Amino acid sequence: MSKFSNHQFANQKALIRVDFNVPLDKTTLAITDDTRMKAAIPTIQKILNDGGSVILMSHLGRPKEGPEDKYSLKHLVQHLSNLLGGKTVFFANDCIGEQATLTASMLKAGEVLLLENLRFYKEEEKGDTAFAEKLSKLGDVWVNDAFGTAHRAHASTAIIAKFYAKENRFFGLLMEAEVKAAEQVLHKAQKPFTAIIGGAKVSDKILIIENLLEKATDIIIGGGMAYTFMKAKGGSIGGSLCEDDRLQTALEILEKAKQKNVSIHLPEDSIIADKFAADANTQLTNSNAIPTGWMGLDIGTNAATKFASVINSSKTILWNGPMGVFEMEKFQAGTKAIAVAVAESTQNGAFSLVGGGDSVAAVNQFGFNDKVSYVSTGGGAMLEYFEGKILPGIAAVNE
Ligand code: AMP
Repeated sequence: MSKFSNHQFANQKALIRVDFNVPLDKTTLAITDDTRMKAAIPTIQKILNDGGSVILMSHLGRPKEGPEDKYSLKHLVQHLSNLLGGKTVFFANDCIGEQATLTASMLKAGEVLLLENLRFYKEEEKGDTAFAEKLSKLGDVWVNDAFGTAHRAHASTAIIAKFYAKENRFFGLLMEAEVKAAEQVLHKAQKPFTAIIGGAKVSDKILIIENLLEKATDIIIGGGMAYTFMKAKGGSIGGSLCEDDRLQTALEILEKAKQKNVSIHLPEDSIIADKFAADANTQLTNSNAIPTGWMGLDIGTNAATKFASVINSSKTILWNGPMGVFEMEKFQAGTKAIAVAVAESTQNGAFSLVGGGDSVAAVNQFGFNDKVSYVSTGGGAMLEYFEGKILPGIAAVNE
């Protein structure tokens, strides 16, 4: 059992850094996707069940200069109460100061307090020590359950750690699960290990590909970024997405892969379109022979079949980034085919982790989220983890 699960929080005030950065409807300010809130509930519940009390802190959106109503965490109070089975959730209009201190100090066993948006203070993102110290006074123990911000050395995600003895610093259950899944892929992967990398830009994914060249047996490259590779190899890609300043990088990646005996799989065919639009005319063609005036917006049927067969013979799968413009129906077949293959392979015993922004949106949209081993909640954090970086939010708990 983990340190968090083993600990009895009875009579303790747990200050939990959660990631309640949920999307809100622009006009009604209603929560449009509560995934991140739901993900924190088991951690909160465990502490309450133990007879502890909970003080929650989070950021919401990107406030520029101090408090802004549309970024207030007060909009989350009612929904949080619902998620906790109707429990009263107290709210402090400020994350530090008199009201927060007083309410926190009066909190009884089993009670919950939500603090106002941390980013109403610029000190939060600056990682200000004095601000972190003020926050730390609110709780006896600090629990970091915000994997989504674990790659940031902010006051509440990392700097605060120094005000708690090591035995009083915990990962919450979400953070534990995220770290465990990532470790499983990065350090305990059974081979064959296939990394599926898609999305728009090579430049965003260079570091992750380079790190994976040390770990994976196969790397599937799809999405817009595949065309930079195609062009670098001498293909004609028409008006497809291309980063001309990365052609050399693409060739270097291919060369390095050869040296390291990693198979790189590029899409041999593509669904091409005569414009970037949902109602475009489409054709299936070889990815290295795309005519002028046309652009590749999805992998083709042969590519999908080949990729699926690689995925089906894998024991470990990491998926980051869609295979095409899956937001438009005409260009979602490739991403869907990959989702099906990852689900099948998982059913046959592979460990699969889907992480990072749009691939998570894709598996959710296609209803495959419960057919893979793990879907990460942390886009940027997961990406940096797989780039081989040390995440400040994880280091702060462990050090
Ligand atoms: P990323 O955030 O880098 O993972 O990129 C995701 C975005 O890449 C999605 O919005 C996709 O629509 C887009 N995308 C995927 N394939 C293509 C493509 N062939 N051409 C243009 N955009 C693409």
